[in-house]
Amino acid sequence: MENKLTKIRRTFAAQLTGKHKLKLIIPHNDSSDSIFEVFINEMFNQLHRKRTKQDEELLRESNRNSPLFIQRKQLQKDIEDFLILNKRQDARAVQEIIERVERMTMLNRKYDIREVKSISQLNTQYQSTIIPTVKMFTVSCSYRALCSELLERFDWPSELFASEYDRCFCKTCYPLTMPNVYQSNIENKYPIIIPRNWMKFGLKIDEVQAKIHQIWNKWAMSYHGTLPNAALSMIKHRQICLPGDKLLDGTHLTIRPGHIPDQKAFFTSPTIRYAAQNHYATPLEFTSQIDKCVYTAKIVLRCRQMPGSFTIQGETLNNSRINGADFCDIIPDEQIEWKTDKRGTVIFDGLCVRLTPVSNQTFHNTIYQSHANQTNVHN
Ligand SMILES: [Zn+2]
Repeated sequence: MENKLTKIRRTFAAQLTGKHKLKLIIPHNDSSDSIFEVFINEMFNQLHRKRTKQDEELLRESNRNSPLFIQRKQLQKDIEDFLILNKRQDARAVQEIIERVERMTMLNRKYDIREVKSISQLNTQYQSTIIPTVKMFTVSCSYRALCSELLERFDWPSELFASEYDRCFCKTCYPLTMPNVYQSNIENKYPIIIPRNWMKFGLKIDEVQAKIHQIWNKWAMSYHGTLPNAALSMIKHRQICLPGDKLLDGTHLTIRPGHIPDQKAFFTSPTIRYAAQNHYATPLEFTSQIDKCVYTAKIVLRCRQMPGSFTIQGETLNNSRINGADFCDIIPDEQIEWKTDKRGTVIFDGLCVRLTPVSNQTFHNTIYQSHANQTNVHN
C-alpha cells in the first residue's frame, strides 16, 4: 500500500501539473525519490501561488459563474485532495483520490498524448518527458440537481449523508470516454463497475468498522436495489435486515411477494444494472418542481461487502431478461448475484438515484409526500 500511495502521489502531482499548466518539468519515472520530492514541493508551491493570484483577480470579478470562479473552485479542490494524500489520515478520502487518479490515468491513455513544452527547467537532473493532456470537467450539472430534489422529497435525516463523497455519473460528469470498469487496488480482487447515469449520494459510515476491517482497501463494491422506505430502514439499523427479523418499529420482516420463498438471505450484485431491475428497485414516479417534468425514479444502495463472505451465483430473474442478452457486459449472468446471511459483512456507503424521463409506464409507487416516518422493510 505504501508503494502504491507513493506512486499515486507522483501521478497525481504530474496530472495537476498538466491540468493547471504549471511551469514545471515532470521527472522521468526512473528518477530518484529526492528528485520527485523536489518536484512535488515545487508543484504544490506553484498551486498555492496560482491560488493567491486567482484570489487577487477575483476581487475585480463580480460574476460568480465566470470561468475564473470555476477554475478557482477546482484549484481549491485539487489542493485539498493533495493535502489529504500527504497526510494519509482519512482512509476513505484517500481511497476516493486513488480512484480519481486512476480513472484520470485510464482516460488519458485513451486521449492522444501530447508533449507539453517546458517553460523553465527547475533542475538540470530533470529529464523532459511526455505527459498527457488533461480534460477539464464540469463542476455541477442539472441531473445532479434533479436527483437532489428527489432526495429532499424523501426528507431523510441529513445526518445520514456525507456530501463530500457525492458523485454524479451522468454523461456530462462522467463522459463516455471514461472507463466502464476498473480494478480498485491490488488488495481487492473484485472489479468496480461504474454506475453510469446514476447519481451517488455519500452516506456516513462507522469509522471504527471502516478501520478495523480496512473496508476502503479490501472490501468489494456491490449494489442492492430496493424501495426508499426499506433503504432508510436498513441505513437506520446500520446493517442488513433478514426475513424473520423484528425491526425498530416492531414489525416482522417478511419475504417480498415474488421473491424466492424460504431464502433468508440478502442479495446484492457487483453491477448496478442487475441490482436496479424492477424486481428489486421498484420504479417510482417523480415530478420535478425544477423542470416540471415527470420521471421514473429508482434507488439502489451502494454497499461495501467483506470479500469471501458471500456466495456468488447466477441470476434469478429469468423472466425479466430482455432478448436473452446478459444483464451486464462485464459480469456474466452466471456470477451476477451475490448472496449472504452474515449481517456484519455489508456496509452501505452510498445511495444511488436514477431518473429517466417518463414514457408510458406503470408505477407501483408515487412520491408525493415524505417517507421519513415509514420504516417498513421488505426483502
Ligand atoms: Zn452529472
